[in-house]
Amino acid sequence: MKETVVKDAKQAVETGSMKAAVVNEFKQKLEVKEVPKPTLEYGEVLVKIEACGVCHTDLHAAHGDWPVKPKLPLIPGHEGVGIIEEIGEGVKSLKVGDRVGIPWLYSACGECEYCLSGRETLCPDQENGGYSVDGGYAEYCKAPADYVARIPEGLDPVEVAPILCAGVTTYKALKVSEAKPGDWVAIYGIGGLGHIALQYAKAMGFNVIAVDIHEEKLVLAKELGADLTINGMETDPAVAIQEAVGGVQASISVAVTKKAFEQAYQSVKRGGTLVVVGLPHDELPIPIFDTVLNGVTVRGSIVGTRKDMQEALDFAARGKVRSQIEAVDLDSINEVFENMEAGKINGRVVLKMN
Ligand code: NAD
Ligand code: ZN
Ligand code: ZN
Repeated sequence: MKETVVKDAKQAVETGSMKAAVVNEFKQKLEVKEVPKPTLEYGEVLVKIEACGVCHTDLHAAHGDWPVKPKLPLIPGHEGVGIIEEIGEGVKSLKVGDRVGIPWLYSACGECEYCLSGRETLCPDQENGGYSVDGGYAEYCKAPADYVARIPEGLDPVEVAPILCAGVTTYKALKVSEAKPGDWVAIYGIGGLGHIALQYAKAMGFNVIAVDIHEEKLVLAKELGADLTINGMETDPAVAIQEAVGGVQASISVAVTKKAFEQAYQSVKRGGTLVVVGLPHDELPIPIFDTVLNGVTVRGSIVGTRKDMQEALDFAARGKVRSQIEAVDLDSINEVFENMEAGKINGRVVLKMN
């Protein structure tokens, strides 16, 4: 025991240490502890994290919910924002003092057909922040300079953090929905992603229907400009949407239950699109006859490219979207996960580092 302590202390002196929240085992509480600070390799930057949003994906990671498991032990977090403290050899595009964000698309190969055709989020050789590599629930995080997002001047690091995933993901989902200004769009799940999705949707000129099963989320949705809100516990949203507007051109499902996906599918009009974004580990049964006869498209959408990120951040910089956040410290992470699981978080919780 004594020997280990001495060894740990020695390591801490050599590399420096930092505080981080660590998943040691699936479905166990995260451990907030001192771990070695990351050391830089070629092309990487070391970021002193100011804030990191808590995405439901991090909870899926900590639970080992998905077929592809994260590394263990794991420092989650893919909405980390901070200041570059050190740059590795070969980094030319960024300098010490720049504010950047470290997203889910941590890196991609840059050479495959997907990377070459501007579809880098489909790269089979990508790394994912806070999943296949350590992320932002820590005082420091390192990342490849080529894939970090530059944060526009004047944005508050705590407020902008959710744009790094919730923002870019929903912005991209709306883009690929191919809805046009004036079309009706439904957002299923007004949580971390959904409350930002509806702001992008409004900014893009759509009429927006917000669906959730918690009343306070619908109150927030109204405040943020939703044209119509529906509580899925009280009425069948699909029936209500067909009656109210004859179906939507696009349904974006960012909820975490199968039921919401089925209802989102049933909400689209002829020629409409369901964009699948939320990631419950489940199946989505799709009626073949209705899909064919109604010409419905079902499309998966995963985060966004670096270009999508620039655009998503630009909306934030110009005040068109703004995340509703509650800032807490890193030590609160287990409580935050409990609240998220119970559906009690309104907007996004952001971990604020000292
Ligand atoms: P969240 O917990 O903040 O929000 C989920 C929301 O869904 C909550 O408001 C909840 O009340 C609502 N909800 C639950 N059941 C519902 C129902 N039947 N009908 C309508 N609403 C319902 O989660 P989040 O951080 O917004 O993430 C949502 C999902 O998106 C997660 O599965 C996450 O892993 C996934 N995700 C996907 C991508 C991607 O690129 N595809 C990116 C980020 C997150
Ligand atoms: Zn996320
Ligand atoms: Zn690639």
